[in-house]
Amino acid sequence: METKISTKKHNTLVMKFGGTSVGSAESMHQVVSIISNERIKWKNIAVVTSALNGVTDQLLSMAEGRVEILEAAADLFNRHEKIAAALIPEKTTRDRALAEIQNVIDEIIHLCQAVLVLGEVTPRVQDAIASAGERMCVYLLAAALESQGDKAEPVEATRLVRTDDHYTDAHPDMAVTRELVRANLLPLLEKGFVPVITGFLAANDKGNITTLGRGGSDYSAALIGAALPADEVWIYTDVDGVMTADPRLVPSATTVPVCSYREVAELAYYGAKVLHPKTIRPVIEAGIGLRVCNTFNPSHPGTRLVPDLEAHSGVMKAITTVQDLQLITIEGHGMLGVPGVAARTFDAVARSGASVPLITQASSEQSICFAIPCASAVKVVSMLEAAFEREIIGRDIDRVWASEEVGIVTVVGEGMRSTPGVAGRVFTALGDAKVNVIAIAQGSSEVSISLVVTAAQVKDALLALHPLIHF
Ligand code: ADP
Ligand code: ASP
Ligand code: MG
Repeated sequence: METKISTKKHNTLVMKFGGTSVGSAESMHQVVSIISNERIKWKNIAVVTSALNGVTDQLLSMAEGRVEILEAAADLFNRHEKIAAALIPEKTTRDRALAEIQNVIDEIIHLCQAVLVLGEVTPRVQDAIASAGERMCVYLLAAALESQGDKAEPVEATRLVRTDDHYTDAHPDMAVTRELVRANLLPLLEKGFVPVITGFLAANDKGNITTLGRGGSDYSAALIGAALPADEVWIYTDVDGVMTADPRLVPSATTVPVCSYREVAELAYYGAKVLHPKTIRPVIEAGIGLRVCNTFNPSHPGTRLVPDLEAHSGVMKAITTVQDLQLITIEGHGMLGVPGVAARTFDAVARSGASVPLITQASSEQSICFAIPCASAVKVVSMLEAAFEREIIGRDIDRVWASEEVGIVTVVGEGMRSTPGVAGRVFTALGDAKVNVIAIAQGSSEVSISLVVTAAQVKDALLALHPLIHF
């Protein structure tokens, strides 16, 4: 039977905290006070957290045998223990949390040792290991909240989010997830608890741990928000919302106060790490408010994400970059007559497992050109040569080749669609900065223009275009 919670408006908030927000005692203390503060204003609060920053990378190094297992495990325990010592003064609460953390670490040690014996890590075992960071974090954060006087309950999302078997990048089953979330979270919320939920991980129908892809805790928050349903999902990170560019690359970057779903989807797709690209859809579909804000500057309003119709103001809003790419080109005078070239090309690329962030085709149809991560280039070229062996021997296709390293610079803004001359301004600015544009592509939704430049010129392009931003 379904439990009912009050239908009073604006009563449920999902707050998601990223790795840097929970990475040290000082930052986790900040998180605890943000939650306590919002608790006064909302009837129900559910918290989704990432692992402490760097922990997922460390776990993956353990899985791949790149570090000494027991040393790394002790290091992980010490990091959590240090935070527990600072934030959980009562010994019983602290010991209980640390015992849970030790259990998770023991499981990981066993798994890593098994991997070492087998000499290979399967995607299923990789997920079981990679997800341990979030599992440890919820015990710590829930106990820290309890110490502050807030009733909190750690919840592993294996009980909440159901996915398919696509380990390392699993796809959720929303219908089952909705049922699980409501059955497990509503009773806790009714009793006045703050559920502190693991981001990133889920489980398939066999009960095995799966993960939603790197950076997937944002997506977890969106799925849980949509399932409850929440009124708002707030993503807390370490910068003041969605910025005009990655502040690590452009120090003068400023907050974009309002961003449409399409704009932020395009930004996320083209490399802005601030929001996982899959976060948007469940939230739009459920009509939930979405905000990105700063744990370390909580009074800053951050960025409010709105449905696209409300966001026509502003021409260029933000610029983002994707690096470590190469362009693969298939060219030949006889390509016009080769049946299904594009379909066969992308079939081969899909089989290689590489993702393709950008495709361009010259109108003459004598070449197809697309970008892929450098790490996949050699494999993709040889798979394409095999796929088109007959056409290469028959001289319909002259060659398949990979360019030098390139990057994609993408300018995003809803207003670009209705504003003539944007492309002209972009090219003038790049020309003045002596940046050579190798290829261009316009996003299908017309809210972005992507330019391919050599790896060495990515930063120059970013700095040349940033002054064009206004909203
Ligand atoms: P979290 O651990 O909170 O999930 P992430 O590291 O995944 O945080 O994402 C936040 C980081 O994204 C910021 O520290 C910033 O460097 C980077 N970033 C890249 N592009 C942007 C952008 N356009 N706006 C804001 N942050 C960006
Ligand atoms: N901890 C996971 C990662 O590092 C998920 C996340 O942080 O969103 O990818
Ligand atoms: Mg993130």
